[in-house]
Amino acid sequence: MTTTKPIIGIECSSIQPELAAAPRAMLNVRFTQAIEQCGGVPFIIPPRLGPGALDALLDTMDGLLLSGGPDIPPEIFGQERHPLTKPLADTRAVNAIHLVRGAQRRGRPILGICFGVQALNVALGGTLIQDIHTTPHPARVKHKYYFSPDFTDHPVVIEPGSRLEGVMGGREFAVNSCHHQALDRLGENLRAVATASDGIIEAVESINGDWILGVQWHPEYLTARPEHMALFQALVEAARDRAAAAL
Ligand code: MN
Repeated sequence: MTTTKPIIGIECSSIQPELAAAPRAMLNVRFTQAIEQCGGVPFIIPPRLGPGALDALLDTMDGLLLSGGPDIPPEIFGQERHPLTKPLADTRAVNAIHLVRGAQRRGRPILGICFGVQALNVALGGTLIQDIHTTPHPARVKHKYYFSPDFTDHPVVIEPGSRLEGVMGGREFAVNSCHHQALDRLGENLRAVATASDGIIEAVESINGDWILGVQWHPEYLTARPEHMALFQALVEAARDRAAAAL
């Protein structure tokens, strides 16, 4: 029996540096390193592709990882733009949504991180809180920090019996936090499985047998901590299982 390494497609940002004549693809290399360390083979899905190329890549990948990024244009989930929402004017959100729906249709495991969990929720019909810190709450937690590696900002409490509890191996963890938006109404077949003390949803997972998990924090900065590295490990293992079942 041969064991093949599962192929993980990683969705990324594009940016245009000040002096550059054209946009660049951009991804924190910790994502690709984490997937490799967990036994997967990562590839970066280029930004600004059309749906045909995305579909061809979806056919070749065993799992999908969505990385962090800008705000999703709120028109996509049927809202007017909040003054503090800053969506990038490229195809990133549309492509991320296309990738989520395509991966789900193909039974590929999906892990969404920060922008990625928000794109996951919107792709499945959910909505977002467009700005946490102007949304009144009697004991609001600060969620928008600028983090450095291995630095954590607030605790999250994990739902007992959830897939996430099994993956991380506990019920309460410190996480980093660099988001001003959050999930509001949940998409189809998603449930909240981690929350901050102000009720902000910090993780979701699927309830219908699909392997879909999303976290609002940035485990790629916390890969020295086994409970955060375990998220990437879980994606790679689920992708390996799917690939083996498809043989
Ligand atoms: Mn947070």
